[in-house]
Amino acid sequence: MVAVTKRYGATVAVDAISYRFRSDSYTCLLGPSGCGKSSTLRMIAGHESISDGSVVLAGRDISTLPPAQRGTAMMFQNYALFPHLSVLDNVAFSLKMKGTGTSERHARAREMLELVDLTDLADRMPDQLSGGQQQRVALARALITRPQVLLLDEPLSALDPFLRIRMRGELRKLQKELGISFIHVTHGQDEALALADDIIVMNNAVIEQAGPARDVFNAP
Ligand code: ADP
Ligand code: ADP
Repeated sequence: MVAVTKRYGATVAVDAISYRFRSDSYTCLLGPSGCGKSSTLRMIAGHESISDGSVVLAGRDISTLPPAQRGTAMMFQNYALFPHLSVLDNVAFSLKMKGTGTSERHARAREMLELVDLTDLADRMPDQLSGGQQQRVALARALITRPQVLLLDEPLSALDPFLRIRMRGELRKLQKELGISFIHVTHGQDEALALADDIIVMNNAVIEQAGPARDVFNAP
């Protein structure tokens, strides 16, 4: 259950929205630029403080926990890979921070690379990868923490149209395989419709509509 308000000074970016996410489902948070999508996602992740309200996931109030302890992981639009680390070390990074030993770290990172189909590129540096490959590294890096909820902030917007369509299928497949929840922020209606089990439509800091994708878009 996410019930939150976000204020930046006098600006109310998120105005007392309330939504119960279904577990193991793909939810898209859809709406125009500036409507409060990123703020909502960042409050769930713990990257932004909650002005009012709380975030309860799987029966646990995570509102006051640090990001690494929330059971969430975030994947960003610009990938944010470390340029001086190999693909394998990028993926293993959060485990290194936690003090996980080298052999377990590398084993789990290879497992993640297999999941996103990048096994052969483990030793490459980020600048030797295409945009789509960098994005899959970013996915692997987020998933290695074994989150219950993966938060994706406009993950496809930096890709060319062809790759964007292909990555939709891959994201969708990953979510089903892993059996965890994905919460995906987008301003593209077609993207939301292609991906989501459930859609939340935000506008001007509030939820205008929410529910199963076919109901929200009135599809047959
Ligand atoms: P979206 O993700 O839908 O584009 P955001 O959550 O980024 O929307 O922003 C919602 C509103 O909050 C916008 O009016 C934006 O300008 C404002 N906002 C976002 N981040 C900040 C911030 N750090 N400081 C002040 N205002 C912000
Ligand atoms: P996006 O649209 O991808 O959510 P933006 O480019 O709007 O991101 O914002 C990038 C960064 O600037 C974010 O960290 C956000 O919090 C901050 N930001 C956005 N709007 C404002 C604002 N009006 N005042 C101050 N910071 C802002």
